[in-house]
Amino acid sequence: MAAISLQHVRKFYDNGFHAVKDFNLHIEDGEFVVFVGPSGCGKSTTLRMIAGLEDISDGNLQIGGRVVNDLQPKERDIAMVFQSYALYPHMTVRQNMGFALKLDGVPKAQINERVDEAAKMLHLEPLLERRPKELSGGQRQRVALGRAIVRKPQAFLMDEPLSNLDAKLRVEMRASIARLHRKLGVTTVYVTHDQVEAMTMGDRIVVMKGGEIQQVASPMALYERPANKFVGSFIGSPAMSFLDGHVLGGVVGGEGYALTLPTDMAQRVSGHEGRPVSLGLRPEILSLLQPGAVADNGAVLRGVAEVVEPLGAETIVTVQVGAQNIVARLAGNVDIRAGQALALVVDCSRIHLFDAESEANIS
Ligand code: ATP
Repeated sequence: MAAISLQHVRKFYDNGFHAVKDFNLHIEDGEFVVFVGPSGCGKSTTLRMIAGLEDISDGNLQIGGRVVNDLQPKERDIAMVFQSYALYPHMTVRQNMGFALKLDGVPKAQINERVDEAAKMLHLEPLLERRPKELSGGQRQRVALGRAIVRKPQAFLMDEPLSNLDAKLRVEMRASIARLHRKLGVTTVYVTHDQVEAMTMGDRIVVMKGGEIQQVASPMALYERPANKFVGSFIGSPAMSFLDGHVLGGVVGGEGYALTLPTDMAQRVSGHEGRPVSLGLRPEILSLLQPGAVADNGAVLRGVAEVVEPLGAETIVTVQVGAQNIVARLAGNVDIRAGQALALVVDCSRIHLFDAESEANIS
């Protein structure tokens, strides 16, 4: 096992494209770190630089305390798991899993022992004599994981390993990988564009955009204290909604709404008096004003239901406030029809304010 450290790492591709910009991160020994971000943000490039599959244009990469910038992938003692399983079709599961060890000249008895151990962990024992074409997608991906495990590397690097699986299998495999990590405690860097995968698997999440780190934090810290509007909108489903507005005298308001800020937040944003902001609302901080309840007007948004999506356990409602839309997550049994006027109570202690220009969280 090993810590992984990237200092001022950059990647320029041959065509001059600056894919990764001044990337700084220390991954602790045994940590599970997820790189997440939209397509093209540079997460795979960063992972491939750690693996040694891409040259590092600038900066330093250390694995287990030694600088590995110029080492070949096989000298870095890491194992990659990809989206495509890349299993050898003519080999059995056992042969696939043991192949790298065989190339390394590990004695046969030892290979068998390590393959059996990994197969047990991944519930692959009954499948060891099958060939890849006789396996389901999920089973193939478990074999690909098994192939990585048997090598007992210092770190696992995984690039969207679950994206070829259907939704149900993905959930199962997510749990398998998390269990495996708890059991083996091997440093793992995991790339995904799926924020649910990131939130459920990572000890820490690195949110990237345009080749730059936006924020590094634990899942809950990211959710509760997003550093900027991009992180706020990228993490969470349904996504955070935004309303344009201004801060004036402890109130954030815009077209068709005015909310009273909690005292501590009003103090923090007092320097933004009169400046444009973006108000961030998570769907779950909104609830229906109950009939007959006394409305605290400083904590109520009034609008019209645009789209109503009953999901059983909850109902997702898109509400038009002024000319803008927000999304509310309401109880499953609410009786709302599109076109209906709604009053929503806002938990103002959980709102976020972002500077309209820099998009930094100022609340
Ligand atoms: P995805 O989720 O789509 O895989 P990603 O975040 O992993 O996206 P990368 O594959 O790291 O993104 O690519 C980062 C940027 O670098 C993209 O804009 C991509 O077009 C560009 N890029 C990738 N490979 C090359 C290459 N060989 N030459 C030039 N540009 C490249």
